[in-house]
Amino acid sequence: MKVLTGLTASPGIASGKVYLFTAPALAYDPTQRGSPAEEEKRLEEAYAAAFGELENIKNTLSKSLGEEFGHIFRAQMTMLEDDDFKQEIADRLKENTLCAEAAVEAAYSTYGELFAEMAEDSYNIQRLADLNDICKRILRNLLGVEEVSLSSLPPGSIVVAEELFPSDTAMMDRENIRGFVTEKGGLTSHVAILAKSLSLPAVVGTPGILNELTKDDTLALDVRDFEQALVYINPDSKKREEFAALERAYYKRREELMVMKDLEPVTLDGKKITLSANIGSVEDLINAQSYGAKGVGLFRTEFLFLRSATLPNEEEQYKVYAEAVKKLNGGMLIIRTLDIGGDKEVKALVLPKEENPFLGLRGIRLCLKHEDLFLTQLRALLRAAVHGDIRIMFPMVSAVAELRQAKALIDRAAADLKSRGIPHRPDPPLGVMVETPAAVFLADELTREGSFVSMGTNDLTQYLLSVDRGNEEISAYYRTFSPAILRAIGMTARAARKNGKWAGVCGELASNPLAIPVLIGLGVDELSVTAQFLPQIIAQIRSLNYSHCRELAEKAAAMATQEEVKVFLKKETYT
Ligand code: PEP
Ligand code: MG
Repeated sequence: MKVLTGLTASPGIASGKVYLFTAPALAYDPTQRGSPAEEEKRLEEAYAAAFGELENIKNTLSKSLGEEFGHIFRAQMTMLEDDDFKQEIADRLKENTLCAEAAVEAAYSTYGELFAEMAEDSYNIQRLADLNDICKRILRNLLGVEEVSLSSLPPGSIVVAEELFPSDTAMMDRENIRGFVTEKGGLTSHVAILAKSLSLPAVVGTPGILNELTKDDTLALDVRDFEQALVYINPDSKKREEFAALERAYYKRREELMVMKDLEPVTLDGKKITLSANIGSVEDLINAQSYGAKGVGLFRTEFLFLRSATLPNEEEQYKVYAEAVKKLNGGMLIIRTLDIGGDKEVKALVLPKEENPFLGLRGIRLCLKHEDLFLTQLRALLRAAVHGDIRIMFPMVSAVAELRQAKALIDRAAADLKSRGIPHRPDPPLGVMVETPAAVFLADELTREGSFVSMGTNDLTQYLLSVDRGNEEISAYYRTFSPAILRAIGMTARAARKNGKWAGVCGELASNPLAIPVLIGLGVDELSVTAQFLPQIIAQIRSLNYSHCRELAEKAAAMATQEEVKVFLKKETYT
């Protein structure tokens, strides 16, 4: 038995079988080829196998996520059946005496160029991505390499990967997964957020684990501690027994806390805190409500886009937003407009590669550039807002002008709906995410012109401390408790209060029990958290004194180092 350590991305305890998620090597020797007839036969078999795989994924997805997600793959199946494309490959095989693998690659580059020329419009470029997927699938089948995908997992799997991106996990088989371990990735990387929304343990920043594992190994994840996670490789029988007991005790405690879920989050001296949940889908909302969520402080809409091989249209988006707000029965639903770019790639939207994607065309910048994409979402939001308390929030704002531009586009979306006689609410409350240092310094202006602010501390920490949130190599620099962060939060909350508006925190910091007293003390009015922590956070808030939180926050923010802050907060919070 070997034990590795990593960073806690999402707490919990789990054991299970390793599922290695690594891209297969698709290398071949171009001189090894049979007769054209033999190569043609190999190709026919590979087409049939690829078609069968696609059909399988389509059926699995239709069952797990609904019909609309199943037919995403129908487009690829149609492409695979396209006679012109097959003819192109067959011609290459005959003319150039290539092996089947090389013929597929040659046909791809011809077709690829053709698509790329036609596809100035980002909506069309997705066909190129589809074609790339199909050709890889055919190649893999020609080479007899098994598919590695997260869409169909053996029961009780712990997925181990170098890194996991939202595009990998969007199609994931949620039923059979018990946890995640990745070599790379920081505490607020998206796999962490996803794992939390699924209430599954996840460990990131575990370098070298892939070299230690084979596909027949078992793992036990002890991710109870917020600071350090333990990964046991092939635990012996004694450890397995010990682990089973730990697991039972951990989940029993969680169960016991469920009695808190419908109590009011109010401190002993009467300060009410708005407590809401972070979600990425209607399924997440249902899960959040089972933990007592009464409102949503952050709906990450990009997950709707990440799941899909085509961009969701206005009607599809409207249905999702309307369904969510109706389920909340008058509760607040803060919907964040599309936040892609950075590490969030949308398959259906192939964008130019950037040198510094986190400083590039991200969030509101991308939406302001692709107005059609933005207007489609805004129309869907305004329409859904007639069904309940929808508020719209813009990500990655770094200037007041961006808020004004977004407002102007809301007016355009409303005018368009009005001219077509479509019911909508033209003026839902608009807020800004405070995620950039500029937004902290402009919080006064932003809360004068907007209705609220919510601090995205995952990005705010990244940009304020200039440290990549996804890079485990520099995780020691990702100081979430730095006095610089605390002061920025305090400044933002004060600016909002001055303008009679509220300030929330929707980054991962809001779910950390060590941070909650200090956030409240700094003047934060709303915490939007990972749903599974709601009962525990209600219990914690009900045990706090607001006046004490204020003293604590003032002292912590005045300290010089994160270490001092943590020692102080641990002493004050846990004794
Ligand atoms: C944040 O940056 O804190 C945030 C909530 O947004 P995301 O994690 O989706 O970037
Ligand atoms: Mg962010």
